[in-house]
Amino acid sequence: MRIDVLTILPEVVQAFTSASLLGKARRDRVLDIRIHDLRDSATDVHRTVDDSPFGGGAGMVLKPEPVFDTVERVDPPRPLVYLTPAGRPFDQGHARRLAGGDGFTLLCGRYEGIDQRIRDHLVDEELSIGDYVLAGGEVAAGVVIEAVGRLVPGVLGNSESVDDESFSDGLLEYPHYTRPAGYRGWEVPDVLRSGDHGRVARWRRAWSLRRTIDVRPDLIAARGGITDADLALLAEFDLSAPAVDPHER
Ligand code: SAM
Repeated sequence: MRIDVLTILPEVVQAFTSASLLGKARRDRVLDIRIHDLRDSATDVHRTVDDSPFGGGAGMVLKPEPVFDTVERVDPPRPLVYLTPAGRPFDQGHARRLAGGDGFTLLCGRYEGIDQRIRDHLVDEELSIGDYVLAGGEVAAGVVIEAVGRLVPGVLGNSESVDDESFSDGLLEYPHYTRPAGYRGWEVPDVLRSGDHGRVARWRRAWSLRRTIDVRPDLIAARGGITDADLALLAEFDLSAPAVDPHER
């Protein structure tokens, strides 16, 4: 899979995508991540990529020329995604869709954002990583690349590990425990050490439901609410009442 990133801070994206899982995937040539410095397409000695906004106001705006010129020069893969707080909220569904293609391109804004003509005539879609405003799109690019990259076959060592985690079936993940079985007086639930795989699976499902009901009622609503079978499962493991203090949601 080829992923191109257009940015004025290539070193930030380079550092993030050179470490750990993504770095290994790049070295193994599973992910072909190409990072382009928009300033390489600037034409003046100061390598200017921004200018003040028409109509006045604070801040600067990323000019159209360096972005169009870079795209026309490197012919990056589509879709070309602009990262912006004004975009659609990025979620696991977007990650799966992008992971299913041959590649995509991320455009990182800076300053007040980018000239609208880039959005109108070059960008294919706009994604936000959350309802807050960052100083630039580079961290957002790291989020999207890691979320998508780990779904690409060959990036994770254990290919099963993406099938059974938060959002894979519309629920949050159940709790995990490892050795030691007892730590500071806190014991691992007996069911996980029982060897009864059916009961372990039901316990995990019950905890996924409980956590999702407590923390993300929007996800429960999206799957059509709670069924009688869900209620019975919660009751089986004494999880009918909220496990999370409502004030901590
Ligand atoms: N003036 C813009 C607005 O109010 O929507 C915010 C611009 S922000 C300071 C600069 C750049 O950071 C944006 O062009 C975008 O690329 C990136 N950015 C900021 N917050 C983001 C978010 N939540 N998701 C994705 N990108 C974001």
